Amino acid sequence: MNERPSGRLEAGLYVVATPIGHLSDLGRRAADVLRNADLVAAEDTRTSRVLLDSIGATTPMIAAHEHNEQAAAEEIVARARAGEAIALISDAGTPGISDPGARIVRAARAAGIVLRAVPGPSAAAALVSIAGLRAEAFRFVGFLPTKAQAREERIAAWRDADEAVVLYESPHRIAATLVAIAAVLGEDRPIVIGRELTKRFEESAAMPAGEAAAWLAADPNRSRGEFVIAIDAAPARPAESTVRIEMPLDALLATMLEHMPPSRASRLAQSLTGLPRRALYERLLALSGADHPDGEA
Ligand code: SAM
Repeated sequence: MNERPSGRLEAGLYVVATPIGHLSDLGRRAADVLRNADLVAAEDTRTSRVLLDSIGATTPMIAAHEHNEQAAAEEIVARARAGEAIALISDAGTPGISDPGARIVRAARAAGIVLRAVPGPSAAAALVSIAGLRAEAFRFVGFLPTKAQAREERIAAWRDADEAVVLYESPHRIAATLVAIAAVLGEDRPIVIGRELTKRFEESAAMPAGEAAAWLAADPNRSRGEFVIAIDAAPARPAESTVRIEMPLDALLATMLEHMPPSRASRLAQSLTGLPRRALYERLLALSGADHPDGEA
């Protein structure tokens, strides 16, 4: 804790992660900051009141959500300058991760306000921790575009990705997104789905993308709740082999004549060498010692 001798928090902005479901996931330091701050700036003060009540915090709150973030930033900066310690929280998880917070943090930084991270839960990190990804790195992309075409274009960009992609999805778009992932990235692409993590009906499952729609449909309750998806890296493709053959033309043609008549051999030799077929055919005839043996004119 960044405490003053009096036990109060040092003035500044404390960006505090809160649980994504299980209230006991609130860290001890996070709880201390929420209790001892002069003010809690919360995305939704009613939602966060439940959390504050659960730890006996009576700290006054103001709203700081995406629609008033600029005004909230100004108030927070002014109050921190005046010596207050302000805790910034979102409805769940880590502020600034698919949640408001970045604008307030930028304003505080620009104003030279002390900034402290009080890290903790985030749905993306929670899923990655239980996903067992093959990829060594992951890219967090938040929510996909809501329009089908834009969403598919976004997904298509990960076709050959060698890192995993972690995304958030809402219950009413989860089915369409899982279908799009399988259609665009292939039925075999490994994915991991996390639903209601840390909550009563928590589930997580790993499967090829082609099985995800059936997994979702298997239980009507599955289309409710909060989802986070990890798309693992594209499976490594077998290395393309290159064949380079250098041999005299007559040797190539003679080899072909061991397996096919001159007319077929002339077509194949033309494809392989790009030389004129008529000339190849004449040479094949000469090599075979035949005179138009397979009826070519
Ligand atoms: N800031 C939050 C964080 O750090 O995870 C994310 C906020 S974002 C507005 C909310 C989305 O996060 C949900 O729609 C869902 O996709 C995902 N999410 C949040 N809690 C979750 C949970 N318990 N299980 C699965 N996904 C969750």
